[in-house]
Amino acid sequence: MAQFDVVVIGAGSSGHRLAILAAQRGLSTAVIDQQVHLGGRAVNHGQIARQVLLQAATARRASKPDRSMIDQQSRQSWSQALEQAGGVSGRLRESVQLHLRKNKVTVYQGKARVLDDLTVTIGCDAEDIEPLAARAIVVATGSLDQASSGLTLDGRVITESDLLQLPEPPSAVVLTGDSGRSLEWAYILRSFGVAVTILSGAERLLPMADREVSAQLQRWLRADQTDRLFNAAIASLADDGRQLSINLTDQSRRELRADYLVCLDDPVPNLEAVAGIDLALGASSTRGIVTDQFGHSSHDRIWAVGSVCDGIGQSAISWSQAMVVADQLAGRPSEPVKERLIPKVVGGGLPVAWFGLTEDDARSLGVDWVKSKLPLSASPIGWIDGGTQGFIKLICAQPHHEILGAHLVGPGAEQLLPELLLAATWDLSADELAVTLQARGSIAEALRDVAAGVSGPMLHY
Ligand SMILES: Cc1cc2nc3c(=O)[nH]c(=O)nc-3n(C[C@H](O)[C@H](O)[C@H](O)COP(=O)(O)OP(=O)(O)OC[C@H]3O[C@@H](n4cnc5c(N)ncnc54)[C@H](O)[C@@H]3O)c2cc1C
Repeated sequence: MAQFDVVVIGAGSSGHRLAILAAQRGLSTAVIDQQVHLGGRAVNHGQIARQVLLQAATARRASKPDRSMIDQQSRQSWSQALEQAGGVSGRLRESVQLHLRKNKVTVYQGKARVLDDLTVTIGCDAEDIEPLAARAIVVATGSLDQASSGLTLDGRVITESDLLQLPEPPSAVVLTGDSGRSLEWAYILRSFGVAVTILSGAERLLPMADREVSAQLQRWLRADQTDRLFNAAIASLADDGRQLSINLTDQSRRELRADYLVCLDDPVPNLEAVAGIDLALGASSTRGIVTDQFGHSSHDRIWAVGSVCDGIGQSAISWSQAMVVADQLAGRPSEPVKERLIPKVVGGGLPVAWFGLTEDDARSLGVDWVKSKLPLSASPIGWIDGGTQGFIKLICAQPHHEILGAHLVGPGAEQLLPELLLAATWDLSADELAVTLQARGSIAEALRDVAAGVSGPMLHY
């Protein structure tokens, strides 16, 4: 039986990074993936393709096409964007393979299962099963798309991956879910002339974001003619062969018609590889594996990283999580990932980026806090293009003004976030940020102004 210090199950964003980092720390490492294409969800199903389509959507809007209908041009640019996305995914897959090989990680292809906390098996048929012995097993099997509550995936009730297979844009869709994915898809699909309705069980858009962020996005979507229905649930569905008719449970008893209902609800952790192993899943809010802050499960030799774990399944933290676990496995000291510093970014017509406490969080935690808010219309970017919507808001602790949360809406949101994250990571105060030099006329000048606003007046507002 082949023996390794570390056997990682899953070569997605978290698993392949962990395998490389473990090997770089001198541990003999194997990674197993059931897919021929390594890289996981982000590379192969959705996230990367969505990024490419977002760019194509922005380019289409800039060329000001008639967005009231789907025409030959929109069909063509849809298929070109999907082709481009396929090319980007292919290059990323090659890069994953290359870096695993370069770092001497042994790659196995097949379906893996944890037999006990020393052995992993690979294969499906009894005679095809290959066992590997491991000093440590890391479960990195990710998550799976799910249909919205009470629905079954079929040809018309589909997932993001199915949407990416459509040869041309549909004429009307209903998107379910409360995440940024719904907003990004609404922006993309509207650019291609698709009629879009966002159906959410929550009381507002992006319920985990600051309320003022939701309100600003709400106004933007209205202007973009995206229909939004909140506190809504589906009572019944009927397919007449051409379209779906979707009846809602809300008081309006509204009926929606659409070619597809796209389920963008949060994916569920994929626990198949550890079926039958008691990992004390106990108090999990997402049914994922509960680990300590260093990725250690209740089993001595079993660890877990990525979206198979309880909590936020975000590729943004997979690198940091992998680093923490790799250091632990190599017996090195490590700092756990700070949840309050996990960045969240939503692209589209009105980009959004944030981390840390919202105003509601600060109130419910009872911390002593103060805020500063600068509309982007009062910043250099606002002066240049006149109609800029959005704002930057900082939530800071009293009395020293450490940054507890930052909320940015509008052009440049994701570019400004890193400077704020760096400041928050190293406990810099807003007052220290306010004396940091920024290039004249750049959007970063707005940071200096909003930071100054925590202690006193802002220069431009
Ligand atoms: C549709 C979708 C869209 C998303 N969009 C975003 C986004 O916009 N921004 C963001 O930050 N995050 C997004 N996420 C989350 C992000 O993709 C995940 O956080 C990230 O991929 C987590 O990486 P992972 O390694 O945990 O899992 P994955 O990337 O899912 O990788 C898991 C790997 O394990 C393999 N595997 C599973 N079971 C077995 C088994 N039994 N044996 C062998 N191999 C197995 C799979 O083949 C896969 O390659 C999205 C997730 C989904 C599902």
